[in-house]
Amino acid sequence: MSDPKTVPLCPLCRRPIPADAPQSLHHLIPKLKGGKGGPTVLLHHICGLMYQTHQAFQYPVISDIRW
Ligand SMILES: [Zn+2]
Repeated sequence: MSDPKTVPLCPLCRRPIPADAPQSLHHLIPKLKGGKGGPTVLLHHICGLMYQTHQAFQYPVISDIRW
């Protein structure tokens, strides 16, 4: 289960997301802005919370908010 080829990478912190780690599937476009059914990205749960915070500041592209 720890094969790096099968463990997804978090696009925000660029670290692996183990299957047993808290994680969340995030809509790149907020559902309130018509993103329902749109592209999603798997993030660590904590990164998802950070992403939501950044979305509030109108960063639409995930590559803009990497740290
Ligand atoms: Zn992360």
